[in-house]
Amino acid sequence: MSIDTDRLMTRIESMRDDLVQLTQDLIRIPTLNPPGENYREICDYLDKRLTRHGFDTQLVRAHGAPGDSDKYPRWNIVAHKSGHHPGECVHFNSHTDVVEVGLGWTFDPFGGEIKDGNIYGRGACDMKGGLAASIIAAEAFIAEFPDFHGSIEISGTADEESGGYGGVAYLAEKGFFAPERVQHVIIPEPLHKDRICLGHRGGWWAEIETFGEIAHGSMPFLGDCAVRHMGAVIDKFESDLYPAMAARRTDMPVVPEGARSSTMNINSIHGGQAEQADDFDGLPAHCVPDSCRIVIDRRYLDEESHAEVEGEVRSLLDDLSTNRENFRYDMRELNHVAPSMTDRGAPVVTTVDRAIQDVLGKTPDYVASPGTYDQKHIDRIGKLSNCIAYGPGILEMAHKPDEYIGIDDMIDSAKVMAHSLTQLLLPQPNDPA
Ligand SMILES: [Zn+2]
Repeated sequence: MSIDTDRLMTRIESMRDDLVQLTQDLIRIPTLNPPGENYREICDYLDKRLTRHGFDTQLVRAHGAPGDSDKYPRWNIVAHKSGHHPGECVHFNSHTDVVEVGLGWTFDPFGGEIKDGNIYGRGACDMKGGLAASIIAAEAFIAEFPDFHGSIEISGTADEESGGYGGVAYLAEKGFFAPERVQHVIIPEPLHKDRICLGHRGGWWAEIETFGEIAHGSMPFLGDCAVRHMGAVIDKFESDLYPAMAARRTDMPVVPEGARSSTMNINSIHGGQAEQADDFDGLPAHCVPDSCRIVIDRRYLDEESHAEVEGEVRSLLDDLSTNRENFRYDMRELNHVAPSMTDRGAPVVTTVDRAIQDVLGKTPDYVASPGTYDQKHIDRIGKLSNCIAYGPGILEMAHKPDEYIGIDDMIDSAKVMAHSLTQLLLPQPNDPA
């Protein structure tokens, strides 16, 4: 015999209108980041809703975090609901920020309009729909099984789209994700309702600068062109680094397929005279550039280390220092995020796996994300590795014009989340009495 979840599932279906309204309300609070607008407003909204459903709430401002100011305070909310018996804590973490709107919309990006069973708006899939689904799942579970064990937490956090330092990282530093406090974390990012995301690749961002000597452009031999030195760097990348990275394959189930190798983007290049202002239409002066800078975005695999990734680039540059006349460079790390991978046997993984099978009648796919998300902070700072991303929505929709979330998908994933709560927070039929 197992726990009867039929009534729980029916209850979630009956909350469809509430789920739609909740999602629309969240979309209509434009929490654009940068700069980080309306964080307090969305926290107040969630505070009101979750307090009404019996949660104790804490609003936490990430004082001193990057971007935090009196004009743009980084507000977060953590809501906690204890059951009637001791047990474990299941935490649903969603970021409340959304990225810029961009061009190409045919819907109002903050209107929450509905068409053909989808709700449209910036953040609909990434990730206000997931946040709404987790709230409905928790409320339905609590209503159906008020006598549950342990506790449920729901957090709405700032700044995921800009690194999470004013959100999950701050909360993790304050102990909110300590393993003695929280045992299971589900992040309802839009990874699709039948997929479990175990983690993400690492990222290493650096700026490389080459140096030269300024001189008159008609006599470049009297100076030294920093842009040509940078050309030699990029040439080395093409001949040595890119083929080496492409040959490395990871065991991480990263999607899409192209991200199963190491990758590197060159984000920008600047050299010589600065861009002229739009209102100046004169001609540039003739100078040999004495500095050239690029920013690189290197995404790396669980099988690689931070030191190897950095060392590989540095050794190419050192090679040039030895073999290329007058080559001088500087390299500065801008940011680093280690890869994170939760074990397939971890309790939150096997629980959600079973819930997907029971609710959707299919075996879940396992994936890992090419880019990073807030799991890195829960893992590294919180020291909690029992964490996955699971939520409704299509990943490819994130950050696009006419972003939407499917209402049926939200219902289905709310069922999976609620079913998972029955496994984690109710005594199981074969448990000793
Ligand atoms: Zn997201």
